Amino acid sequence: MTDFFDRASELETAFREQAIARHCRTIEQTGYSHCEDCGDPIAPARRAALPGCTRCVICQQLAEG
Ligand SMILES: [Zn+2]
Repeated sequence: MTDFFDRASELETAFREQAIARHCRTIEQTGYSHCEDCGDPIAPARRAALPGCTRCVICQQLAEG
C-alpha cells in the first residue's frame, strides 16, 4: 500500500505546482506584475500581500494622495 500513498502525494504535488503556475501566468497576462501607472515591476511580496493590486507602492501613495 506504500506505493499507493507515494503516488497520491506525487499527484497532489503535481496538482499544486500546476495550480501555482497557472496562477502566476494569469497575473502576468493581466498585467498585475507591473505597475499600471509607471510600468515598474511590482514586488512579489506586495502582490502576495495585496492580491489584485495594480500599482507599485509609490504610485499607490500618489493615487491615495
Ligand atoms: Zn508605479
